[in-house]
Amino acid sequence: MKNVVLLGSTGSIGTSTVKVAGDLPNQIRLIGLAAGGNAALLLEQTRQHRPGIISINDPAKAKELQATLGPDTEVCCGNEGLLKLATLPAADIVLIAIVGTAGLQPALAAIRAGKDIAIASKEILVMAGEIVMNEARKHGVKVLAVDSEHSAIFQCLDGKPSSSVRQLLLTASGGPFRNKTDWPKEKFSEITVERALKHPSWVMGRKITIDSATLFNKGLEMIEARWLFDIEMARVGVVVHPQSIVHSMVEFVDGSLIAQLSTPDMCLPIQYALTYPARSASDRVQTNFAKIGTLTFEEPDVDRFPAITLARRAGETCGTLPAVLNAANEVAVEAFVNRQINFPQITETVRRTMDAHRVVDHPTLEQILEADAWARREAARV
Ligand code: NDP
Repeated sequence: MKNVVLLGSTGSIGTSTVKVAGDLPNQIRLIGLAAGGNAALLLEQTRQHRPGIISINDPAKAKELQATLGPDTEVCCGNEGLLKLATLPAADIVLIAIVGTAGLQPALAAIRAGKDIAIASKEILVMAGEIVMNEARKHGVKVLAVDSEHSAIFQCLDGKPSSSVRQLLLTASGGPFRNKTDWPKEKFSEITVERALKHPSWVMGRKITIDSATLFNKGLEMIEARWLFDIEMARVGVVVHPQSIVHSMVEFVDGSLIAQLSTPDMCLPIQYALTYPARSASDRVQTNFAKIGTLTFEEPDVDRFPAITLARRAGETCGTLPAVLNAANEVAVEAFVNRQINFPQITETVRRTMDAHRVVDHPTLEQILEADAWARREAARV
């Protein structure tokens, strides 16, 4: 039995994780749950899984939940609550699925408390990959990938070192604007929020769905992969694969390619991260090749989607630049969703913020958080 703490239980990844725990009641026990603001769903999850401790960001909602649940469940709030959950003595693994930067401190706290972590929140490794991976090595804990692409690479590598790899190949669906005939660059300024939120293959949270449309999602994943698998950016490639069946591949130095395939369902990588190294039986994912028919691959269009080039630059430069890219993108996505800027201006805002930044090499956590705050101000100004 694995004791799991789940941070971000009410989101897209969080609810899939709760489903996986429901599928495997003899293998996974949810001992702690944390949410942002959705008290109703957190309450329902708590009643279903009976964790001993939960947390919600808003103190007033925490009070209400405590009154409703009674003394059998401890209810915490805010960042303190997240840190308490991340370091619970009984936890074997902490799965972090909080959107934004709020997961970074809990991830480091969990590692320092000797917990394995499963990371969905890309921001953690994008902002502080060097620090997180060094701390994980120092404390002898595992950093497991929840993202389908990184889970695929992890499975393909099967413990092989980066010296045996020619390149990691992340697959990208290409998002809703992949087709150049329907969506030439000139039409990008007409893209509405509603249209950008319609992803062709995955149902996900709002921020990551917009990131999939700009391809910043792939850019963030490239940086994540660089740290997670200890490989330089030049050996992290991207190939567009609209069917989203091949979740990513590894090309080894002998020319052999290993890929991981399945119909898209986040429950699969989540389950693997939580049961690793075991594989537990599940009927949730069934892949029928005859039905799928064709798998296609194409080069990413970096002219229409410059996010890939910006992310490569950030991942090659390292230091504080990836944190700046991430923060500027968050501000720009929010401005797009609030209809303050148009679709191409998301990438333009990130580019201009990156250009204005003075990079700090091998930054401390404080310097990363400073760069994050600076980038948010600068992006808002831009
Ligand atoms: P959602 O927007 O669906 O969910 C975000 C979750 O974070 C919610 O549970 C939300 O709580 C919670 N949250 C936000 N702020 C806080 C806070 N301060 N304290 C505690 N909880 C908080 O996002 P996704 O599930 O789509 O994505 C989560 C992360 O996983 C992102 O970093 C994303 O990039 C990554 N990811 C997502 C994938 C997907 O398929 N969705 C795939 C791979 C990675 P509430 O709803 O209660 O406010």
